[in-house]
Amino acid sequence: MIKFWNKRLKDGIVTQNLELDEELKNIRKEISDSVKKKFAGSLAIRMVDSGSCNACEAECNALSNPYYDLERLGISFVASPRHADVMLLSGIMTFNMTPHVKDAYEQIPAPKWVISLGDCPAMMAPFDKTYAINAPVDQHLPITHHIAGCPPSPLDIIKGLLEFLKKI
Ligand code: SF4
Repeated sequence: MIKFWNKRLKDGIVTQNLELDEELKNIRKEISDSVKKKFAGSLAIRMVDSGSCNACEAECNALSNPYYDLERLGISFVASPRHADVMLLSGIMTFNMTPHVKDAYEQIPAPKWVISLGDCPAMMAPFDKTYAINAPVDQHLPITHHIAGCPPSPLDIIKGLLEFLKKI
């Protein structure tokens, strides 16, 4: 037991990444200020999957955990496009999903923006053009900002959201 506590005291918390914590703290502050200034403190995002492998969505789910905690910055994921300011679009844009994605976009009240998420929507990877794929998405919707990665990590997504907020 003494050995265990000696090791704990010597090693500290090994899962803690202090550099990431610091970087995230600064980004969070910038996002929170920007959301307050540009969206009166509340930015609603409707996520739409146009034919993804679901890894992009899994990374987005992590944004709601207690570590990234986007809701605390005023950013929330909403169930209806009618409540959204921004569409976060993942996936390769299949022919079957194209009319539904366009329909969801039409339902978002103006002013509205689209952020494409992951390499799929830009037709960068990993799929090839086939009879089922109607990518790239910028042929169908006006894309304001693109967040690259396959999948992008939660930190990449948060950085991408900040870039988007600076851009508009
Ligand atoms: S970009 Fe990669 S991780 Fe995201 S949906 Fe496409 S294949 Fe999946």
